[in-house]
Amino acid sequence: MTQIRINLGGIVPFSTIDWRGKASMVIFLRGCPFRCLYCQNHDLLEGDNYVEMQEIEEDINKNEDFIDAVVISGGEPFMQPGAIEAIAEYAKTRSLFVGVQTNGFYPEAIESMLRKELIDKIFLDIKAPLSDKKLYAKLTKVPGVEERVKKTLGTCVRAKIELEVQTTVFKHLAGAEEVKRIAKELEEAGAAHCPYVIQQGRVELVPSGEIKEKDVFSHEELKELAAIAYHAASLKEVRIRTREEGEEVIYII
Ligand code: SF4
Repeated sequence: MTQIRINLGGIVPFSTIDWRGKASMVIFLRGCPFRCLYCQNHDLLEGDNYVEMQEIEEDINKNEDFIDAVVISGGEPFMQPGAIEAIAEYAKTRSLFVGVQTNGFYPEAIESMLRKELIDKIFLDIKAPLSDKKLYAKLTKVPGVEERVKKTLGTCVRAKIELEVQTTVFKHLAGAEEVKRIAKELEEAGAAHCPYVIQQGRVELVPSGEIKEKDVFSHEELKELAAIAYHAASLKEVRIRTREEGEEVIYII
């Protein structure tokens, strides 16, 4: 039994939307170095809710007959590398796949975990073009993070880990020009084969006052953004995720 305490944000025992094609248990870890303008998990950014690893193990045991995978999310889960490692190690003993959703801020921790072969898939948030320092700092409220995200992307590509990249879009923040540039950057980084998901930002989940309903792209507009990304670079697969229709593949080779 692993003696480690985990600052837990919460657990979703069963999800079919966090890892396409797999039934997952999603474990949210508390804490994040970013303060994104449109954070939908802002209640997880701070605070303490430490639990023993044994509690997580018991939750996994309860669900293991119904799930294929454990997805570790946040917050930013790599802020607690020991927790990720303990959860991933335990999930592996139960023959479950392990996925981690990350903002890419901790390339060294990610590389170290990938070397241990405890992670099967990385879901990487790329919030703005990696060449746009100013926009990255505006969206995350932390200067100079884009270099670290770029390093994470390179690490994942070199490790040949299954990778999915996601961008949340809002009008006047990240839209057509940004997804086009990100698509090109993915191609340049050798990640054109990875699914690229353009996610509709949802105003009802964002801290009040930061973003308005008029900033939300419609379903049709998201499809246009997918077309722009797809035609800007030779991406293999572009999807959109909307409140109305869930996740859809728009382009696939
Ligand atoms: S990286 Fe994710 S969890 Fe952290 S502030 Fe941004 S949106 Fe919220």
